[in-house]
Amino acid sequence: MQIGIDLGGTKIEIQALSPRGELLFRQRAPTPQGNYPATVAAIAALIGQAEHHTGHTCPQIGIAIPGAISPASGLIKNANSVCLIGQRLDQDVSALIQRPVVLANDADCFALSEATDGAAAGTASVFGVILGTGVGGGIVIQGKLLSGPNAICGEWGHNPLPWPDPADPAARPCYCGKQGCIETYLSGPGFAQQFQQQTGTPLMSEQIWQLADQGDPEAAQATGRYIDQLARSLASVINILDPEVIVLGGGLSNVKRLYSEVPQRWERYVFSDSVTTALRRAKYGDSSGVRGAAWLRPAG
Ligand SMILES: [Zn+2]
Repeated sequence: MQIGIDLGGTKIEIQALSPRGELLFRQRAPTPQGNYPATVAAIAALIGQAEHHTGHTCPQIGIAIPGAISPASGLIKNANSVCLIGQRLDQDVSALIQRPVVLANDADCFALSEATDGAAAGTASVFGVILGTGVGGGIVIQGKLLSGPNAICGEWGHNPLPWPDPADPAARPCYCGKQGCIETYLSGPGFAQQFQQQTGTPLMSEQIWQLADQGDPEAAQATGRYIDQLARSLASVINILDPEVIVLGGGLSNVKRLYSEVPQRWERYVFSDSVTTALRRAKYGDSSGVRGAAWLRPAG
């Protein structure tokens, strides 16, 4: 049995999987807000529940976190759950449960899940993309999560939007301190802000896609521009990584148009006479982060 945990801003989810990936146990608990010791205790309690329910003990635990481990300090960085920043969550949970704990960024866990037995199973190179409240990414090569000296593999969301177009709204500041990051255009809130910049109307991302389906001209224009921006942004990744498959997760991955229209559009940006890269929807949806955490293995 293997156990994965997805530590989110509002909830903590645990799943226990069989070696073949079958779900044995699943439980959710609210994330204690702004309280790090209570968060550690809640994680340990969920592990106890999973092992009590299944009757198995797991030799190590994987946790997906909304951030990364700084290779320089060993501490959590880049986390939007502020109480995690600067903590050693792996050591603190490990001290409570007396077993090794492996942490990884949630987008990395998503990519690992989809590459292991999801939408990109059996392929040699995968770029996993989260298009949700933020824009993240992870890279899996030959079944192994790619890691680098700065622990930022796949973080395409904080590159600038490539091939600027006069129809793009003006660059807006990003929480990372830069301006015009891909995340400020392609996240759900980023897309909604683009729409408001150009129309003055405050709508949620899902509402804009629905209006476009109903023939609303402003929404049709905005969604068409989003598709072009996504195609440009992924084309710049394809030019560097040339993955066999790109898998989309997060709220915007539910937009069916993306899978037909984005590959048509990226042909004009990718540096190749033909583009055979596959664009697929995540198989496990919201469960991919927690499943990928279960597939994590200690480095080395
Ligand atoms: Zn940024």
